[in-house]
Amino acid sequence: YLNSQNKRESNARSYPRRIPIAISEAEGVYVKDVENKTYIDCLAGAGTLALGHNHPVVIEAIENVIRGKRPLHTLDLTTPMKEEFVEELFDALPASFAENAKIQFCGPSGSDAIEAAMKLVKTATGRGGMLSFQGGYHGMTNGSLSLMGNLAPKTKIPNLMSDVHFLPYPYAYRCPFGIGGKEGAAVGSTFIERTLNDPESGIVKPAGMVMEVVQGEGGAIPAPDEWVKQVRRITSEQQIPLIVDEVQTGFGRTGKMFAFEHAGITPDVVVLSKAIGGTLPLAVVVYRKDLDRWEPGAHSGTFRGNQLAIAAGTATMKFIKREKLDEQAALLGDFLMLRLKEMKQDVQSIGDVRGLGLMVGAEIVDKNAPADALGSYPANPQLAKKIQQECFKRGLILELGGRHGSTVRFLPPLIITKEQLKTVCDLFFEAAVAAEK
Ligand code: PMP
Repeated sequence: YLNSQNKRESNARSYPRRIPIAISEAEGVYVKDVENKTYIDCLAGAGTLALGHNHPVVIEAIENVIRGKRPLHTLDLTTPMKEEFVEELFDALPASFAENAKIQFCGPSGSDAIEAAMKLVKTATGRGGMLSFQGGYHGMTNGSLSLMGNLAPKTKIPNLMSDVHFLPYPYAYRCPFGIGGKEGAAVGSTFIERTLNDPESGIVKPAGMVMEVVQGEGGAIPAPDEWVKQVRRITSEQQIPLIVDEVQTGFGRTGKMFAFEHAGITPDVVVLSKAIGGTLPLAVVVYRKDLDRWEPGAHSGTFRGNQLAIAAGTATMKFIKREKLDEQAALLGDFLMLRLKEMKQDVQSIGDVRGLGLMVGAEIVDKNAPADALGSYPANPQLAKKIQQECFKRGLILELGGRHGSTVRFLPPLIITKEQLKTVCDLFFEAAVAAEK
């Protein structure tokens, strides 16, 4: 399987390179390969599988659509299923935002919804540029890739959007200002304010700012609440629409339904995908009504009403709410981070452990190299990769992320139990010890 796959698939394939598996079955937090070996899946469709693989409520929702002879494809025409989906989603959003919000169904991917959000704010403001953050990830289409903080995937593609400015993200472990914690965050938000106020900064007033409250692909980096609040204040004062990218964080993963709720802010635009499709492809943009200066048809498309995804998503949202999986994610995430921090004593190469809810990262560093003047050790992507491989051998699927591919990321389904999470920790510990030898 793996050989034929490698021969025929594009050079651009990414996950299959690091996770050499041919999956035959999947259920809950487990996947089974064609040789009957079982793995715990802590990648979970890059955060998509909130309820794990093939959850009964998802299967039931899909079966109901099919058995009930309901439409599978409707472009973006109205259906009762779609109405129910919007009700569930708006009910979960903070009332202060939902009361004045509209929704645009997008193509099936997070990238497509980011494109829609950019078009929305560009149309509303008549301005063209964007603000984004170092380490940010927003997708792989032309526009969304332009917003990416990581240069490597962009250098070979001419003519990406050039009018994007990258501001420093409050990445405490490698804080560009040399201080992490509260002080670093305060310096960071003041830096943003001064930069935007400075006519000599070279930044033309942008159409919008796009921000992850917890950088996901960037290495599970949560922004401090106070920094998020300040960024909201600054963007409001400067009338720069704030787009919060909740593609990965949305619907419970960070310990609240939406990551922006930790800081209690109200965004102008929220981009959602992954979890809200309940396993299947779905993406939406929810935004402040008065930003809607779109002409009819300004953002149309063929695949905006996948009824299976809408039904699976509604069932998933209901289940997350009913079982309070957001609250559970907060508790489990704290437990996981505690265990990983304890491991730092025995696993020298864990430089930093961080996260929010079930979006957790362990940054792997080289402690044999000299620390920089501010005490941080260099990233160690080779060792991170080795740890990932050792985990894989032991039946644990984890993905790498972070600015140098040096952060091991834990993104398990929200339905994972504490016992299963303990096994994840044990396997990770064994793997890290083996990799360090
Ligand atoms: N934004 C964020 C925060 C993401 O994590 C991702 C995907 N990992 C995207 C956007 C892009 O989504 P997609 O891969 O579905 O295009």
